[in-house]
Amino acid sequence: MEPVEEFTKVESIFVRKRNALMVCGQFTPIFTDYYIHLMENQLRHKEQLDTIIKDKLAFLTLHLVARPWAETIAWTVNLRAPRVNFFVTGSSVEENITGHLFTENVKESDRNILYSQTLVKGAEGRKSTVELDDNDPAKWVETYYVQSEQRPARAFRLPDENFVLIAAQPDCDLEWLEALTTEDVEKIMVEEQTKVLETRKFRFHCGCAPDRFLPALAQYKDNKEELFQGDPEVEITCPRCGSKHVITPDML
Ligand SMILES: [Zn+2]
Repeated sequence: MEPVEEFTKVESIFVRKRNALMVCGQFTPIFTDYYIHLMENQLRHKEQLDTIIKDKLAFLTLHLVARPWAETIAWTVNLRAPRVNFFVTGSSVEENITGHLFTENVKESDRNILYSQTLVKGAEGRKSTVELDDNDPAKWVETYYVQSEQRPARAFRLPDENFVLIAAQPDCDLEWLEALTTEDVEKIMVEEQTKVLETRKFRFHCGCAPDRFLPALAQYKDNKEELFQGDPEVEITCPRCGSKHVITPDML
């Protein structure tokens, strides 16, 4: 077996005569590290939920590449049935994507909702909320583009863990974009005039460590017993990725 690269390379490609931006990548490196992360933290999800979060990791990565470099973006999807919260976040500058899903203590909502939060260093952030009609992450991205990005886009899963996002640019051939099938997308590089604009790389990585949680626990510095309650340590779960970290009294 060939060794798996640590990073997924994501290309933005301009489709000349259609005036569309195609962003694509092969996600085995990210999915491999995602599974290693689950194993290391003894996390296990139902296959259906696992597929959704992997799709979301892939599509948010593609969206990050369709956006300016400086943005950190988080997408939270609150599904009604099954009642699940999916969280994914990433950054082109940090070259990372991470995520987690929650099935406990999820507030019940009457519809499926995608919350998007964009942070830009030194600038005002952006938030948007989009209602979702179904349980297909590819359709979520398409709904998000129409409502929040205000331009149509299509999202595709291709064989071998390849994912593609095609977003309209000014003067886009919208009829072509709307009619695209998975088979058409597989042939774009052969049949259309294309130009690679840039390449970015991403890995599954959160960057959390026990130290990161210490500022939030500073209030217990002089009252450690309230936190530890006689136990030699407490376990903290990272809300971004689900990693478990052990905190001991001497760390405070
Ligand atoms: Zn984490």
